[in-house]
Amino acid sequence: MCGIVGYTGSGRAVDFVLAGLEKLEYRGYDSAGIAYLDGGELRIVRAVGRVDDLRKKIPAEAARAHCAIGHTRWATHGRPTEINAHPHCDNKGRFAVVHNGIIENYAKLRTELEHQGCRFVSETDTEVAAHLIAKMHETMKDFPRAVERAIAVIEGSFAFAVLSTEHPGAIVATRRGSPLVAGFGRGEMLVASDALPIVPTTPDVFYLQDDQVIEVQAERIEMGGKPVQPSERIRWTAEDAERGGYEHFMLKEIYEQSGALRKLASKLIADPGTAGDPGTFPAFHLNGAPLSKDYLRGVSRVVVVAQGTSYHAGMIARNMIERTARVPVQVEYGSDFRYRSPIIDPSVLVLGISQSGETADTLGAVRLAKERGCKTLAVLNVQGSTMARESDGVVLMHVGPEIGVASTKAFTGQIAALYVFAIHFGILRGTLSAPEARRRVDDLLQVSIRVDEALAQNDHIKQVALKYKDAEHALYLGRGTGFPLALEGALKLKEVSYIHAEGIDAAEMKHGPIALIDEKMPVFVLALQGRRYDKIVSNIQEVKARGGRVIAIASHDDRAIEARVDDVIRVHDDRGIVNSIVCAIPLQLIAYHIAVALGRDVDKPRNLAKSVTVE
Ligand code: GLU
Repeated sequence: MCGIVGYTGSGRAVDFVLAGLEKLEYRGYDSAGIAYLDGGELRIVRAVGRVDDLRKKIPAEAARAHCAIGHTRWATHGRPTEINAHPHCDNKGRFAVVHNGIIENYAKLRTELEHQGCRFVSETDTEVAAHLIAKMHETMKDFPRAVERAIAVIEGSFAFAVLSTEHPGAIVATRRGSPLVAGFGRGEMLVASDALPIVPTTPDVFYLQDDQVIEVQAERIEMGGKPVQPSERIRWTAEDAERGGYEHFMLKEIYEQSGALRKLASKLIADPGTAGDPGTFPAFHLNGAPLSKDYLRGVSRVVVVAQGTSYHAGMIARNMIERTARVPVQVEYGSDFRYRSPIIDPSVLVLGISQSGETADTLGAVRLAKERGCKTLAVLNVQGSTMARESDGVVLMHVGPEIGVASTKAFTGQIAALYVFAIHFGILRGTLSAPEARRRVDDLLQVSIRVDEALAQNDHIKQVALKYKDAEHALYLGRGTGFPLALEGALKLKEVSYIHAEGIDAAEMKHGPIALIDEKMPVFVLALQGRRYDKIVSNIQEVKARGGRVIAIASHDDRAIEARVDDVIRVHDDRGIVNSIVCAIPLQLIAYHIAVALGRDVDKPRNLAKSVTVE
């Protein structure tokens, strides 16, 4: 989701904000905008496209401004037009707002505000906040208090930065769910969605917690009338800069997932379809997968071939494709499939999944399938790789280069890309209605927000993870799509921390693995609500009854789970298969934090290599 930058101080505010927006552009890039004060007047400049397009529209006088806020948007409500681009403002032009996130009760708030005489000009949820803050301000004339009152009635996720003609030189900023950081310079202060735009000015930062409201002035930052001090000093070396300031590529790539998923969606979804119209199907950019409707209708079976993390994504794809296209799906290690004299014929579609497109075993299986007359489709990250060249079709996941050896963003990218294909497949086979297809596309469009929300819990996840860092073994349990996630969670932990871990289908516990449970055994359970929830709860009770320590990855609204387990990590549960993407985040962070605490070489774990080009 979008990037926010705000600057107030002695420097040229607009230049700082534009430079900052450029650094945050990976977060959103469909449109951009900036607001600044010029002689007490609010000026807003917006442009469709990149920050560069915005830069070209900025008038020379803007150089005089000492206070500005800016935004790069990734549209959720309303198309990426100039009118919908941020900042948004109230009808009197006194408050300008940039927003990252979704105001879930915006429709209700908009109706109420319209009754009170507000005129809306955009289709965004964000505009509600501008009118609301202005209304609140009318009665109290206190800038931060007005924002506080506004967020008290706003539901959903947000980071806001607000500028006002009534309070020149001040930026009020707040967040819930979406990230926001403040930076402390000398006579200049900044706010931004992450530290990247701040670090060139100052290493001293303050990470806002949910619902904190700060007032940023050139000389000081205040919260509730009291000065705020930096909570952290960022230390980066030149080499670190390549990692975007993250300590490891793995962490960087974990954090990149929401942006990567947005990019994937924008590349693969051509049109999400029109809500309310039963006839319009979503459309996709799957030119790289030239498998015609007639061909896909005739497919008798899908065989997925993959290794490692890609294999786990393939297991999730099985559930997706079977649900959407009603075709049987078989998931195979390429390494086994290719040497087994498999039973396949030209009516079988073989799907090869590989981050690099060079994985030797998967490539071998794809080649064998071709020899047997099957069509092959590759789901890859690297364009131009061998598998891309040799397959009949390619679906690229567009998540950008993955450097950390332990795959993170490629895993979630694979799931998302496979979901796009599964929906397309279901549409062409006539097994998915337009509303069902659109709902699934909507879920996919929402998922990066859910991923951001999961990432925002990093501190809590770290705290939980560190409790279990000295374990010698760990189990991961799940059912349904929770099972491949359990396998992936265990694989991550093994890869980077060298702790022995196993992923188990929770239903299998009684058939043997439960013998492993004792008071030293941490058991991570994928316990989201759904069809199998009651069964998972029974499994949790069985583990607890034997003294095991249970850490549940649970639905945001599952209040009952707390009493049953030792620790809970919550994710926003949209009750759809894309939850598997959201659940991957805590699993990755658990492995990462434990590995760092144990002093492991997280980006280059022993004995491993990134792209497995040998058998
Ligand atoms: N929901 C807002 C919009 O659609 C903000 C999206 C964003 O985070 O870029 O304009």
